[in-house]
Amino acid sequence: MAIAVTNPATGEVVETFDPHDEVEVERRIAAAQSAFVALRNTTFAQRAAWMRRAAELLEADAEELARTITVEMGRPLAQSRAEVLKCARGCRFYADNAEDFLASETLADPSSVKASAAGTRYAPLGVVLAVMPWNYPLWQVMRFASPALMAGNTGLLKHASNVPRSALYLDTLFERAGFPVGAFHSLLIPASGVERVMRDPRVVAATLTGSEPAGRSLASIAGSEVKHVVLELGGSDPFLVMPTADLDAAASVAVTARNQNNGQSCIAAKRFIVHTDVYDEFVSRFVEKTAALRVGDPLDEGTDVGPVATESGRDELAELVDDAIERGAEVLTGGSVPDRAGWFYPPTILACITRDMRLFQEEAFGPVATVYRVESREEAAEIANATTFGLSSSLWSTDDDEIDWFIDRLDAGAVFVNGMTVSHPELPFGGIKNSGVGRELAAAGIREFMNLKTVWRA
Ligand code: NAP
Repeated sequence: MAIAVTNPATGEVVETFDPHDEVEVERRIAAAQSAFVALRNTTFAQRAAWMRRAAELLEADAEELARTITVEMGRPLAQSRAEVLKCARGCRFYADNAEDFLASETLADPSSVKASAAGTRYAPLGVVLAVMPWNYPLWQVMRFASPALMAGNTGLLKHASNVPRSALYLDTLFERAGFPVGAFHSLLIPASGVERVMRDPRVVAATLTGSEPAGRSLASIAGSEVKHVVLELGGSDPFLVMPTADLDAAASVAVTARNQNNGQSCIAAKRFIVHTDVYDEFVSRFVEKTAALRVGDPLDEGTDVGPVATESGRDELAELVDDAIERGAEVLTGGSVPDRAGWFYPPTILACITRDMRLFQEEAFGPVATVYRVESREEAAEIANATTFGLSSSLWSTDDDEIDWFIDRLDAGAVFVNGMTVSHPELPFGGIKNSGVGRELAAAGIREFMNLKTVWRA
C-alpha cells in the first residue's frame, strides 16, 4: 500500500509521502538505541513530568488532530476528538502509576544461607518496534508508547500506510514533551520493510496490533530471532442477551457497540446472541435504532456513521454480506453498497446465519451485525465460543448466578456485564486464541516489555 492520505469519504488522494530509505531507517534505529541509554538513567519523576507534558500537548492540539484522524480514516469528528483526549488520559495514568507498577519486590529467601535476601527488580529491555493499525491511529499507539517510555524503553513506530499524518504527529510528540531525542520515532516504511527492522539486533521486542496474517508473520520472524512479541489481533465478539436483561438499554448499547468507529473496532460486538424469550423484542428495537443512524460525511457533526476506511475494506465487507445472503441469510436492514462517492457501507443486520457462511467464522470489520436465536444459556455459550477469536464479550443479564456461569465459560480475554467492551488505561486488555497473545494497559501492559530480574544476595 502506498504511504498516503486518501479521504475515505470521497476517495480522493489528499497527500502522498516517500518512504524512508535505508539510510534514514538506520539513523532512526541508532537514535532509538542511543536514547535508550539516556532514558534508562532518568528517574520515574522525570519521565512522568515529560509524559504529563505530552498529555498537555495532545489536549492543546486536539481539534486539529481530530480533523487529521477523520480525514485519514473516516471516523465521525466527535469520536476522533474523544480519541485524542483518551490518549491524554492514558499518558497521565502511566505518569501517575508506572513507578508503583514496577516497584521492586522482596521475596521469601529459599536458601539456607543466613542473613541472605531475595527479591525482584524490573529493568527496561531497550528498543521496541510497534506495528500499528489505522483504526484508532493515536490511541492504539499511545497504549504502547506511554507505558513503554515510562518504563525506560524506547519505541519505533511502523504505522499503517494510510495514516501517515498521525504517524508524523507522533514522531515529534514525545521529543516536544522533553523526552531524549530518538526516544520515540516513526518509520515511514511499507509492511515489507518490517522484517529488516525486526531482525536488527538493536530491536529487542515488538508489539503488533492488526490483522491475524500480519500478526502471524511478525511473530514467526520474532520467533526465529527469539524476541518477545505482544499481539493484539482481530475479534468477533459476542453480545449475549438473556431473558432478564434490560432490553432497551441492551438494544441502545448494541447499536453503539457495533457501529461506533464506523464498525471498525476489534472489540466491537459483532455477533448478537439472543435468548428466544426476548429475541423478537430485542431484535426489533436493535433494527429500529440501527436503521435510524445517520450515515454521511464524518466531518459533519450530525453524522453517526462515516465510510469504511479503505476501498479494499469496504469490498471485503460487501463480499462477506453477499456470501451470507447467497447462502440464505435474511437482511433486516442495510445489506448493499450505496451508489455514492467514497467507501460507504450502510449499518446492516443479518439473521438466519448458518455455519457454512463466512460471516459465522470471519470478522466483519465494518458496520455489519449478525443475530442468532438461542434456546438456552448452553447454546448461547456454545455459539459465543464457536469462533477462532477470543478477544472480549458482552453479557446482558440481571441474574447473578447466570452472570457467574457465563463469566466462567466465555472463552475471551474479557467479559463486560450489562455494558459494552471499552478499553480503559486502568484495565488489562488482550485476547486469547487467534485474537492475540499478551496484554496491554494496566499493570500487565507495562510489565510486558520488562526484564523481571531476580536478585539474590548472600
Ligand atoms: P493490518 O493489515 O494487519 O495492518 C496493521 C499494521 O500491520 C499496519 O501497520 C500494516 O502496514 C502492518 N502489516 C500488514 N501486514 C504486515 C506484515 N505481513 N508484516 C508486518 N506488518 C504488516 O490490519 P488492518 O486491516 O489495517 O486492521 C484491522 C485489523 O486489526 C482487524 O482484524 C482488527 O480486529 C485488528 N485490530 C485489533 C486490535 C486489538 O487490540 N486486538 C485493535 C485494532 C485493530 P501497512 O498499512 O503498510 O500494510
